[in-house]
Amino acid sequence: MTVSNEITNSLKELENEFSVPKETLLKIIDYFVEELNRGLVDGSDPLGIPMNLQWVMEYPTGNETGDYLALDFGGTNLRVVMVHLLGNGKLETDQGFYKLPSNMRTTNDRNELFDFFAECLEKFLIDKHPSGIPENQVFPLGFTFSYPASQKRIDSGVLQRWTKGFDIPGVEGEDVVPLLMEKIIKRNLPIKVVALINDTCGALVASRYVNPKTEMGCIFGTGVNGSYYEIVSNITKFKGLIPNDIPENSLMLINCEYGSFDNAHKVIPRTKYDLIIDETSPRPGQQTFEKATAGFYLGDLLRLTLLDYYKKGIIFQNISNETVKILETEHCIDASFPSFLESDESDDLKTCKKLFNDVFKIENASFEDCYFARKASEFIGTRAARLSTCGISAAAKKRNYESFDVAADGSLYLKYTKFAERAADALAETFGWPADMPYEKHPIKIVKSLDGSGVGAAVIAALAHNRQSKGLS
Ligand code: BGC
Ligand code: MG
Repeated sequence: MTVSNEITNSLKELENEFSVPKETLLKIIDYFVEELNRGLVDGSDPLGIPMNLQWVMEYPTGNETGDYLALDFGGTNLRVVMVHLLGNGKLETDQGFYKLPSNMRTTNDRNELFDFFAECLEKFLIDKHPSGIPENQVFPLGFTFSYPASQKRIDSGVLQRWTKGFDIPGVEGEDVVPLLMEKIIKRNLPIKVVALINDTCGALVASRYVNPKTEMGCIFGTGVNGSYYEIVSNITKFKGLIPNDIPENSLMLINCEYGSFDNAHKVIPRTKYDLIIDETSPRPGQQTFEKATAGFYLGDLLRLTLLDYYKKGIIFQNISNETVKILETEHCIDASFPSFLESDESDDLKTCKKLFNDVFKIENASFEDCYFARKASEFIGTRAARLSTCGISAAAKKRNYESFDVAADGSLYLKYTKFAERAADALAETFGWPADMPYEKHPIKIVKSLDGSGVGAAVIAALAHNRQSKGLS
């Protein structure tokens, strides 16, 4: 089927706005390396990348053992995991899933959030111990708190700022571990938080427990971020904080928090839709890289694009007022919507048509409407995947790593149509690997991580426990 010149020209215009050609990617990567370096030297720039210490100072060996609980608070749902580390890279897990009430993202009462965590832990323990929670045992817990937190020790973490649309007063600037412990104690639960963990660090460590080629952990999900091990002597902003008994050539796991990359707006090309996303978010000016690449924003980027071309008179003519209202509603669709549109390869785009009917109450979206929306999704999804790889390339350049695995997790990586292929292609393009090189031969491979926020949290808790028992910080 053919489409009108008007649609074709509009799509050309849109493609231009969202495209990030190789030269742009290379420029972004160079500046990214500078920012990673600067974040290690100077922690004072509010526009810089945080480069937070995770206080994991060794690679796991795969021989860590013990039983650990993990509480995974990532942004969309809540999970409690019991991890039995058996050594030899072996482990068993048992988990419970809990739906985060939708008002929780922006509740005015932080107690609601932390009590909800304790309530889920209690439910899980009762569920696993029907004849009563054991009284003579304390469960060590790794708290996977996937937000920027500055840590002076592994069992603490001060929230620097909320991300991913969260906006709960009284938590930024506070140590979240005592906030959680207070609720655990109130419910008399035999649990002690021994480590606060970022999900990217969990992904790296969990995968490294079984795969020694792992050098980075990345999340491409509701939010985006990456972690890698840095040499302690390069982390000059922390002179004095890192104890003297630690040799200068030791390693330190760094939670980059590079969702905030380019907050100074120097290199990422931003469309007018990106500007609206930023201005209407609870934290304007923050998380520039994340807002262009993460799942929490891709649906809204599409919604804003469609709304704009509707207003220009190009698509969705004669839609009802009800549909216009839906189109104007922030976050009414998430990233699964553009992903579904993209996955429709039928001639008449019937899945797209059905989706517009189901979600936007458009009874008869035309072929052209569907074609436009599907293409727009492709531009948005492709840009996200290509930009996402810049953090990996930058960390590789910084550490001179030529061949390694990136342990990846998150809804975009796992579920968004073609995300993983597009990311692998972008890496090949920027590193100059032959275009026909099979993915499994790529020197830098993005691979599915082991459950970082559960297993990774347990392994990190075990490493922390070992260090503490040796009297180390
Ligand atoms: C948070 C990071 C997290 C990432 C992925 C970002 O919004 O700031 O801490 O690793 O999302 O969950
Ligand atoms: Mg998660």
